[in-house]
Amino acid sequence: MTVPTAMRAAVAEQFGPTVNVEEIDLPKPGPFQALVKLHASGICHTDLHAVEGDWPVKPQPPFVPGHEGVGEVVELGPGEHSVKVGDMVGNAWLWSACGECEFCRTGRETYCKQAEYGGYTQNGSFGEYMLVDTRYAPRIPEGADPVEVAPILCAGVTVYKGLKEAETKPGQFMVISGVGGLGHVAVQYGVAMGMRVIAVDIADDKLELAKQLGAEFTVNAKTTDPGEAVQEYTEGGAHGVLVTAVHPDAFGQAIAMCRSNGTIVFNGLPPGEFPAPIFDIVLRGITIRGSLVGTRQDMAEALDFYARGKVKPHVTACELDDVNEVFENMRNGKIAGRMSIKY
Ligand code: NAD
Ligand code: ZN
Ligand code: ZN
Repeated sequence: MTVPTAMRAAVAEQFGPTVNVEEIDLPKPGPFQALVKLHASGICHTDLHAVEGDWPVKPQPPFVPGHEGVGEVVELGPGEHSVKVGDMVGNAWLWSACGECEFCRTGRETYCKQAEYGGYTQNGSFGEYMLVDTRYAPRIPEGADPVEVAPILCAGVTVYKGLKEAETKPGQFMVISGVGGLGHVAVQYGVAMGMRVIAVDIADDKLELAKQLGAEFTVNAKTTDPGEAVQEYTEGGAHGVLVTAVHPDAFGQAIAMCRSNGTIVFNGLPPGEFPAPIFDIVLRGITIRGSLVGTRQDMAEALDFYARGKVKPHVTACELDDVNEVFENMRNGKIAGRMSIKY
């Protein structure tokens, strides 16, 4: 295949509500890197945080967002690679890590201080081509539909890892708070892992989707107190709560929904703070932990659930030129499941 010298990409030129779709130079793969021709890329709410620059740790414009990219290797940089030209690979939030530090050596590579992040510290998948580090790039299961599998690369692996971190057993109650891109696959992973899934959101259409995907009980937190509703339904609170919502209110509500000795895992990353009642947390022995995407092993497992048909992202395809419109809809909570760019 002949590789062009320029490509179209969505570039965040400065922090703000929109990106510019424009022509930029094609990058050259360095050592351990591959050039990938994209077939699809999911659009994660993290991309919106990145473009708006609303997190304490910011990317440096100009940059190309996107960390749910799926495509084929077209060129390999110098060195040995475990992938070859033509292989289907992805990018991910965990674009690379140092491989040497305490976190890397002990299976916690997502917390490596030298980690690079796809679409944040490294240009991502909102363009016709991207670079990946072949030591870290996820391998896409054979025969997977690129548009459909893309959301597994961030939403899927993040909630799958989050659910593992919740230490909730089959048959126990698991609340998924926020049924967006992350949450709608979380419902499916939870069901596949044998949990009794309860979904909480502030939009009835999201809750309807959660029901279709296997949630046995749903609560609209806008109209009903989610703490009271979940305490009553579960007779004492959910064993696990996974918060994927994009509003700090949901983080405070997690404590009220949780059972004594239960575990709350935070995946969502809205800027801000939430009230945490010390007395309640201590007397009920509640664990609260954060969880950041997943390791390469978590990724392989999360993709395997997809390959075996246990989870199926609800995806709508769009074009690169639609990214600003998708961001606007995302801001307003108007997306069902995930939007995925088809190249
Ligand atoms: P999304 O926009 O697709 O979904 C967010 C959902 O939250 C929507 O369904 C919305 O209705 C719901 N919501 C809003 N306010 C709520 C409230 N008060 N209570 C309950 N639900 C509420 O976003 P997404 O792509 O699923 O991402 C969710 C968050 O997770 C973002 O902040 C993103 O940056 C973060 N994220 C974190 C990780 C990680 O590794 N921890 C990975 C990916 C994404
Ligand atoms: Zn993401
Ligand atoms: Zn490291």
